Amino acid sequence: MNSLWTETARIPGRNPLPGNRRTEVVVIGAGMAGILTAFYLQRHHIHVVVLEADRIGSGQTGYTSAKITSQHNLIYGKLVKTVGEETARLYGKANQLAVEEYGKLIRRYGIQCHYEEKDAYLYSVQESEKLLKEAECARRLGLPATFERETKLPFPVFGAVRFSGQAQFHPLEFLRDISSGLTVYERTRVLKVQGHEVITNRGVVKADKVVFATHYPFINVPGFYFTKMYQEKSYVMEIGPVPSIDGMYLGVDSKSYSFRNAGDKLLLGYGSHRTGSIPKENPYIAMEQTAKHLYPDVEVLGKWSAQDCMTLDGIPYIGTYSVLKPDWYVATGFGKWGMSTSMAAAKILSMQILGKRTPYDEVFTPRRHHIRASAKTLVSHSLKSVKGLSGGVLKGAVNCPHLGCRLVWNRYDKRWECPCHGSSFEINGKISSNPAQQSIPFID
Ligand SMILES: Cc1cc2nc3c(=O)[nH]c(=O)nc-3n(C[C@H](O)[C@H](O)[C@H](O)COP(=O)(O)OP(=O)(O)OC[C@H]3O[C@@H](n4cnc5c(N)ncnc54)[C@H](O)[C@@H]3O)c2cc1C
Repeated sequence: MNSLWTETARIPGRNPLPGNRRTEVVVIGAGMAGILTAFYLQRHHIHVVVLEADRIGSGQTGYTSAKITSQHNLIYGKLVKTVGEETARLYGKANQLAVEEYGKLIRRYGIQCHYEEKDAYLYSVQESEKLLKEAECARRLGLPATFERETKLPFPVFGAVRFSGQAQFHPLEFLRDISSGLTVYERTRVLKVQGHEVITNRGVVKADKVVFATHYPFINVPGFYFTKMYQEKSYVMEIGPVPSIDGMYLGVDSKSYSFRNAGDKLLLGYGSHRTGSIPKENPYIAMEQTAKHLYPDVEVLGKWSAQDCMTLDGIPYIGTYSVLKPDWYVATGFGKWGMSTSMAAAKILSMQILGKRTPYDEVFTPRRHHIRASAKTLVSHSLKSVKGLSGGVLKGAVNCPHLGCRLVWNRYDKRWECPCHGSSFEINGKISSNPAQQSIPFID
């Protein structure tokens, strides 16, 4: 599967790990989170090696919509209710600073990545009440939020929350430049981590600290991330030519769309569902019909899907991997907002590795327990996992190599998907998304 980004950016290839090595920090994974973390560590004169199973940006970062924003759907009202005003304020501040940091980096290093400042909007075609409340809550938390009655979308809305001064870019052009001075070994899969030894298919790297920036952390014990995270899939369609809609948009009603321009094209996003819970409606057909309805002369130029890790309380896990592994760090659970949160993670983890505290450590620590915010998701995640696992023992089931759940066929995407933890595999069984780390034998 290709995306607009994978089709249009050429990132120079890197060699695999040429044998055993010693370094201060190993970062596993060369997506947005891993590359930014390595970049800030290197800026602080730490010796870093990045190990990537495939290619730089070949994971979910290559398939994102690449909006850089602290506007994460209707999160602020929810966070105030479930984790309190102070934690919600710090969550917003970490992400808003991350948005601004992208602008600073891109200007400072002259990175050519189609970076454009844009306002971000949450819109509804059904009601304005919850948007008014969200705008008011976000403003109280210090975010650049206003409530608007009109937008440049090609249909009327009831209202919208506008966050000013946000941005969009080409994520792989950005990664190409920001990774250029880093030591990255591609086609080097980490198989095991034993204490300070990172064991790959190409050799062993010994390190003082290890960062897991692998989208989904693949070591199950300790950490137990598989018990506190699931994945959600969404679909993207590239259409054009389309006039500017002057902003980045996300609908809050059910069955609504995400919009952003990319030059004279438009990226439509649609159809969120738990990976492995296949919807009845074909999302690509729905998107094409909507595209043709809104823009009758438009052509479909591309389509793809992506998935992201969802935590129980809606806040990413950034910090030490487990109390039992104080020298292991993790950045995951970005909830489809991994552009700003990868930057926040990179800043937080690089400080923690330098032995410094940040005001955001407690907000994102994987060790937190927000019972009120997590209970409902925990119950439904556990039920789905038990169902998937029990299906795995049935005769004739195609099982996931991660923990043995029964895989489900996604007929729209032509992939096998795990309903428990979200691993996915191409039609021929080749692994396409973790936490599984190996392919499944060829399926006829
Ligand atoms: C449809 C969709 C649209 C989205 N749009 C937006 C958006 O507009 N704005 C936004 O902020 N966020 C968005 N997101 C979320 C965002 O794309 C992700 O959160 C982000 O890309 C995750 O980056 P990452 O570095 O954590 O993971 P990845 O990019 O997946 O990187 C992880 C890397 O680790 C490597 N790896 C895995 N296991 C190993 C191993 N054992 N050894 C070595 N390497 C390994 C993988 O090969 C991969 O390259 C969207 C998500 C979806 C699903």
